[in-house]
Amino acid sequence: MTTDVGIIGAGAIGLSAAHYLTKAGLSVEVFDSHRVAAGVSERNSGQISEKEIAPLQGPGVVQTGLRSMLSPDSSLYVHPAGALASLNFMIRFALYCNKRSFERGKNIFVEYARGTQAAMEEMADAGDIDRPTAIDYLHVLSSTSKAAASRSTTLSRFDVETSDLIGREELHRLEPALGEAATDGFIVKGHTFVDPGAYCLRLGESVVRRGGRINAPFMIERITRQNGEYVIEGPHGTSRVRQLVLAAGVGTPALLKLITKRHRLPIYPGKGYSLRVRGGGQTKHLLKLEEAHVGVTPHGDSIHIAGTMEFDGHNPRYNQGRVDAIIRSARPFLNSGWDWNATSDHWVGSRPMTPDGLPIIGKVPGQEDLIIASGHNMLGMMLAPKTGQSVTNLVVNGVDRASEPFRLERY
Ligand SMILES: Cc1cc2nc3c(=O)[nH]c(=O)nc-3n(C[C@H](O)[C@H](O)[C@H](O)COP(=O)(O)OP(=O)(O)OC[C@H]3O[C@@H](n4cnc5c(N)ncnc54)[C@H](O)[C@@H]3O)c2cc1C
Repeated sequence: MTTDVGIIGAGAIGLSAAHYLTKAGLSVEVFDSHRVAAGVSERNSGQISEKEIAPLQGPGVVQTGLRSMLSPDSSLYVHPAGALASLNFMIRFALYCNKRSFERGKNIFVEYARGTQAAMEEMADAGDIDRPTAIDYLHVLSSTSKAAASRSTTLSRFDVETSDLIGREELHRLEPALGEAATDGFIVKGHTFVDPGAYCLRLGESVVRRGGRINAPFMIERITRQNGEYVIEGPHGTSRVRQLVLAAGVGTPALLKLITKRHRLPIYPGKGYSLRVRGGGQTKHLLKLEEAHVGVTPHGDSIHIAGTMEFDGHNPRYNQGRVDAIIRSARPFLNSGWDWNATSDHWVGSRPMTPDGLPIIGKVPGQEDLIIASGHNMLGMMLAPKTGQSVTNLVVNGVDRASEPFRLERY
């Protein structure tokens, strides 16, 4: 039997696509070499904003990156063994670190992400995901001048509502989780967050409820084209699909190579790390510890701390030094109750980075039935519902106006 659509990758992107495709009445099979949420969708920060959304590549990023690379606690780290493999990507990345590219990317994202939070609410209303938590986003800094500069940059870049600057006493009253180094800050409204692993698991269940299949683990050895269908083969079996969506995060370029050598996907792994810690109370906000370059999300009676951008070639190895660096830089901003001797859930995940910071969504040129949905950089949770809708439009109608800026042809 031939399935309408095969999707490779059971992360936030692949499962969001499967969700909307099954809702549109198509038969869907999802394939993952490991399991649902085995990739970077498992433990990211899960922050969702429709307005404060922009590529990483911006003015000053190269200079900040180069300066911070000299510090062992730097949030940007290039592993010596991966430096050569990363060089080509980093040169291309640097070329996009300017005001023009940033503004263009930001405008595209804000337009594209509009309606994301409503889409997630709709999924929650239907019982397909847990309801996202609405929460204020507290930017935390160590001086009034730094907080003022950050607030004015935020206001000049994004159409968001912020509080006035908040001084030390008020800051600690509003957020008792904070520590000595946290002296100033401001709040941005309009954020929500999800537990990213749970988002994927629940969406996977909704896909199965609507008749879809999730094949995991499913190792893919060969993908061939036979009689107008894609035949997906590996030790776990053989499947035939009419249209194929590659949504395998950092694994997507290798999958495309199995099908065609005519196109190369410029998707490169940028590793991020996270951990959890208990004991300091509960955070009432999403925290952006700006100088530590980490995000803090509430997680039951613990907090989830995530950060770092590590370029290490294609090596997915876990580097304890990166987690130690996160702890060293975040700790002064958090109160003394947090138990740093009993941190848990240390995790590494590879973000699918692209040179211009935009994802790649669209049909592979010359291959009408082959769609790429990957390269979501640091924004895959925010962009997942819209990407799922775009993929569904591409499959059902053959076109999707909203995702045109993300087509592979731009490279
Ligand atoms: C520390 C950190 C914090 C982040 N915080 C946020 C945030 O707050 N908000 C936000 O929007 N984004 C955030 N992100 C980014 C976000 O995690 C990613 O953009 C998003 O999860 C990408 O999803 P994906 O489905 O494309 O990839 P993945 O989740 O990696 O899924 C790809 C799947 O494909 C499978 N796969 C790979 N190769 C193959 C193959 N050959 N055959 C079969 N299956 C294969 C993998 O097993 C995996 O399950 C963060 C990332 C990090 C690292």
